[in-house]
Amino acid sequence: MNDFYKFINTPLPYLYDALEPYIDEKTMHLHHDRHLQTYIDNLNKALEGTPTLQKLSLEQLLLAAPCLLPLGVGTTVANNAGGVYNHRFYFSGLAPTGTRLSGSLAYAIDDTYGSLDKFKDRFKTAALSVFGSGYAWLTTNKPGELKIITTANQNTPITQELCPVLCIDVWEHAYYLKHYNLRADYINDWWSVVNWETAVQCYDNRRSCFK
Ligand code: MN
Repeated sequence: MNDFYKFINTPLPYLYDALEPYIDEKTMHLHHDRHLQTYIDNLNKALEGTPTLQKLSLEQLLLAAPCLLPLGVGTTVANNAGGVYNHRFYFSGLAPTGTRLSGSLAYAIDDTYGSLDKFKDRFKTAALSVFGSGYAWLTTNKPGELKIITTANQNTPITQELCPVLCIDVWEHAYYLKHYNLRADYINDWWSVVNWETAVQCYDNRRSCFK
């Protein structure tokens, strides 16, 4: 995994059209090759003159960003490292035909929310509640504990000491070409391409795993 400066845009782990008909090929091209690429370019630019920051991993940069405010790069690093982190997590959480939820995470979801369907309702409500641009996340910080949160813009759960398990990008660029303004339709389609295997790994490891 490309965790340190100089950051590169690692390829998607599937073809651009692999998520059709739920998420369209053109959206995936633009989302990965332009939106994510821009965050990568801007993060590299923010770090290029500062060798001490180049030694920090992507996660370390996110955690250090508030301390960098006096240097004048704190906001730029937070926004762009967040953009890289969140998009890598989002893309790695998708799979061409989706996968079945099983194992420890299935048990924890049943235990916390009553059933997978009830969890989906709660998660969808959260994703719909994001005003403007942001994400909905399923997170954890200890075994058996799950928490649904939303973040604005490119903020990340790891700065709240929460480990991401699952996320949906609800910036309009993630769905506008296919679903227009209908975020609910995009969320319904997104369930069909969720990579539950990755989510289970993230839940079990309690660390980010966009490898
Ligand atoms: Mn996005």
